[in-house]
Amino acid sequence: MPEGDTLFRTAAVLREVLAGRQVVAARGRPDGVPLGRVVGQVVDSVEAAGKHLLIGFSGGLTLHTHLRMHGSWHRYRAGERWRRSPSRAVAVIEVPAAVAVCFGAPTVELIDTRALGLHPALAGLGPDLSSAEPDLAEAERRLTSVSRAALTVGEALLDQTAQAGLGNVYRSEVCFIERVDPFMAAGRLDRAVVRRLLRTGADLLAANGSGGERVTMPDALGAAPAAALPGRRGPRLWVYGRAGRPCRRCSTVIRSRVSGALARRTYWCPSCQPEDAGTRPAHAAESPAMLG
Ligand SMILES: [Zn+2]
Repeated sequence: MPEGDTLFRTAAVLREVLAGRQVVAARGRPDGVPLGRVVGQVVDSVEAAGKHLLIGFSGGLTLHTHLRMHGSWHRYRAGERWRRSPSRAVAVIEVPAAVAVCFGAPTVELIDTRALGLHPALAGLGPDLSSAEPDLAEAERRLTSVSRAALTVGEALLDQTAQAGLGNVYRSEVCFIERVDPFMAAGRLDRAVVRRLLRTGADLLAANGSGGERVTMPDALGAAPAAALPGRRGPRLWVYGRAGRPCRRCSTVIRSRVSGALARRTYWCPSCQPEDAGTRPAHAAESPAMLG
């Protein structure tokens, strides 16, 4: 599943080549979306909403794609050879000098733009953490609602109706950075910790919004572009993908486990993130009044 920053970059790239230009050709799969309807229209907007990509056309239709695990958007110059088989294209939009091609996205639909707000997958999206000024208060409200109290912290952080933008890499990384047990119930999280998780998530998405390899470590975030040191890349992620290797903080062996309805793998350090780490402070066992 692409992270929100990937979609944010994809939208920026597609906007650059499509926005304000007239569609000269367009097609979906033969049995798929009737994209030919937008030929002759102008591309009004290209936006990422969480992990959804929305391309608005002047005739009042919007192309909605969700990339899930294996979908991607490519941009080509006119006549350039595609890097994937044209038979796998699910949406193709041609403007005079460029062509945008979507491969492998399981969700491709053409929606009446006025009905976007009613779309079940879009209407319920939480605040987009990869936007310029994410509504962290609203994301906090959603993440701490009783409806999510029984989810694990890791599951709640992937719930795009609480916040949109964080994916599997970032949820492991933010839990590690903030020293939170990703397997405890979200309802037990300390509020201040929830705020830190969201702030850190938004900061990581912002720091990675301009492209390049995804990094979450402060040294790597502040480092020169990787291209300057070919083959000599420093550490970039704290825990994600590092099961069996030593923790970068404490040398304990990093563990991983598949969990949740989505069966996604979570990575964590059992020492930096012991069971229940991040729990709200226990209330005093008895209040003074009760002692009396
Ligand atoms: Zn550790």
